[in-house]
Amino acid sequence: MNYISTRDKQVKTTAAGAISQGISVEGGLFVPDTFPTFDKADFLKLCEMDYIGRAKFVLSHFLNDFNDEEIDYCVKGAYTGSFDNEQPAPIALLGENANLLELWHGPTCAFKDLALQLLPYLLTTSAKKVSKGKKIVILVATSGDTGKAALEGFCDVPDTEIVVFYPSDGVSPMQKLQMASQKGENVHVCAIKGNFDDAQTGVKNIFTNNDVKNKLAENNMQFSSANSINWGRLAPQIVYYVSAYCDLLKREDDYLKDGFNIVVPTGNFGNILAAYYAKKMGVPVKKLICASNVNNVLTDFINTGKYDRNRSFFTTISPSMDILISSNLERMLFELSGEDDTAVAKMQKELSEKGTFTVSDDVKAKMSELFWGGCCDDESTLKTIGDLFSEYGYLCDTHTAVAMNVYKQYVEKTGDDIPTVIASTASPYKFAASVLDAVSDQRGESEFDTVRVLNEITKTEIPAPITALENATVRFNEICEKENMLNAVYSALNIE
Ligand SMILES: *Cc1c(COP(=O)(O)O)cnc(C)c1O
Repeated sequence: MNYISTRDKQVKTTAAGAISQGISVEGGLFVPDTFPTFDKADFLKLCEMDYIGRAKFVLSHFLNDFNDEEIDYCVKGAYTGSFDNEQPAPIALLGENANLLELWHGPTCAFKDLALQLLPYLLTTSAKKVSKGKKIVILVATSGDTGKAALEGFCDVPDTEIVVFYPSDGVSPMQKLQMASQKGENVHVCAIKGNFDDAQTGVKNIFTNNDVKNKLAENNMQFSSANSINWGRLAPQIVYYVSAYCDLLKREDDYLKDGFNIVVPTGNFGNILAAYYAKKMGVPVKKLICASNVNNVLTDFINTGKYDRNRSFFTTISPSMDILISSNLERMLFELSGEDDTAVAKMQKELSEKGTFTVSDDVKAKMSELFWGGCCDDESTLKTIGDLFSEYGYLCDTHTAVAMNVYKQYVEKTGDDIPTVIASTASPYKFAASVLDAVSDQRGESEFDTVRVLNEITKTEIPAPITALENATVRFNEICEKENMLNAVYSALNIE
């Protein structure tokens, strides 16, 4: 297996090369040129293993230039001691068929931990192989959850520095506090005046700027990315869909007789892409259901074949999905177009120049076969949280509620009510004010008061990392213009 670029298939590298570079020189994203496939016997074997065993098995097929010892070191380091009850991805069953895959039991209470606890190990192991001695500089653009999860993952990891940019008014107070209070000698956090797409575009521009690259090299440094454009973020996400399948296989014999569907609350298209890859590898997924909030660029794209980011941008109560440029869609387009790098490069060029592109009829047909797209607004999101709580006593966060709402729409419209895995991507306590709004008329006086009220009313457990935040000290309160992101990077790294 080699890793090739979505914009130029001639660019080839190993897993370590793809992970340490993050993005290909011409701006394309790295993807494996072949995917492993697993058969029923493999899955039955995986059923007997714990999460660490499953992760080692799946990842060993992608990390082609890592030896067994290295994979063992990385996976055990990531998933031992960092998740509640050593269970990174438990399932909560509501009714007969709604399986909420809870991906928020890690240190920052959002699904990004599943990948970002592992990425620092993958990255430092990769860097030892391919860029001896260079310090790795992680640049992150975040809509809220990635930033904190990356800071937590890279905190004081030797030979790394991490710089995180977030939209000043685009994250929840809890997310802001989580980032601003981050500990560690190698961490830097900066708010920007702009939205997530501005942050992401700024980071991409810095990455692909050759002068900047040379300047870092002079200082014995090299950039890499902890955003989901990095293959090292996606591979760990495939694991939990495989793991969820194994958990469902353990139910009654014919539970999965028709396969199962997966619903993912989607922003950058990373999480749902991992679900697609799991399907490609042999997990019997029938439909991939892409759930968006009112920033519904993906819903329209799936329904029409036209991607159009020229529209109003809304800040919502599910901020991690407030995105109009879904970076990982590029990898999906590469798949759907039969690995046509020229076509992908052309679409991405149109997207960056005109903000829109349209896929061929053939690609559109394939897309409709695989995906179903739906969206919901803030009001329906809140109603869904309230309904789930009164019906099942189950409390979910705003992002998960978008997924649950779209799941219901899907079942109503299609009648397809087979077992379904719904990615539950954050703890409700991370978005406490909105969640409290949904279940009660009471209000908290402050963010933490809100957390306490929510806890009293719902009798659900407050995650320990949230409790610990209350007395945390704010270390970072810088806000910069989006044009000045590069200066902020240089000053964080102490280079002129
Ligand atoms: C990042 C995030 C999403 C969106 O995931 P993508 O991989 O970007 O599509 C959804 N929910 C939460 C809570 C997130 O943090």
